[in-house]
Amino acid sequence: MEITVLGFSNGLDCLDSTNTSLLVSTAQTSILVDVSGSPRQSLLKAGVDSLSLDAVLLTHGHIDHVYAFPSLIHSMWLQNRTKPLIVAGNDLAIGVCKHFFSYFRLDRKIGFEIDWKCASTKQIGDVQISSFSLYHRPEVPVNGYTFMADGMKVSYFPDSVASLVIPECALGSDILIHEAGGLDEDREEINKSHTTALQAALMAKKANAKELFLVHVPENPDLRKRMLAEAQGVFPDAFIPSSFQNL
Ligand SMILES: [Zn+2]
Repeated sequence: MEITVLGFSNGLDCLDSTNTSLLVSTAQTSILVDVSGSPRQSLLKAGVDSLSLDAVLLTHGHIDHVYAFPSLIHSMWLQNRTKPLIVAGNDLAIGVCKHFFSYFRLDRKIGFEIDWKCASTKQIGDVQISSFSLYHRPEVPVNGYTFMADGMKVSYFPDSVASLVIPECALGSDILIHEAGGLDEDREEINKSHTTALQAALMAKKANAKELFLVHVPENPDLRKRMLAEAQGVFPDAFIPSSFQNL
């Protein structure tokens, strides 16, 4: 199983990254986690044609995680896709995508089935998935996911306030990918909806993960460096990825 970081920036896309989005792939299966930027182009850069994509898995219905959904479906229509596409996520995220879908009349265009599924979907292709609920904003439910395939376990904690309670499925992850909104000195503000770099590192330590990647990070390079140093202070194998890095 390979994880490719298609984007690692927070709500503000920037020069070196689009909003956070991941590709989870095995020899048989490819899953796009959240849809931002120019999704077809990003997938091509990661070596996957959107025609062969098996599923779109959504973490939540906030704009920076779903806005490119209609563009992805539109590109599949332009390519005459016939293979069904799974779109999975919680009710709010699916509702937003269905709204886009009907607003742009994609339902009248496309020649393939969309298989809408809930966030607790257990398996896509040869990738086993466990979902867990996270707190982000009171009105927006967020799902994190653990992916297992090829003897590897990867857990993704998207936009959320770290609770330091590790979902059982995420224990012993080879890679833990966690959002981080800033430094712990700004914890009071950040913890209204996000996690600090220190808290993400504590999560990785508590989960007994092998590596930690911080995503959904701010644009400022100096702040990123300080966040990474803060995380490495408690969890040495912490990193901030670059765009299109394979983890
Ligand atoms: Zn976000």
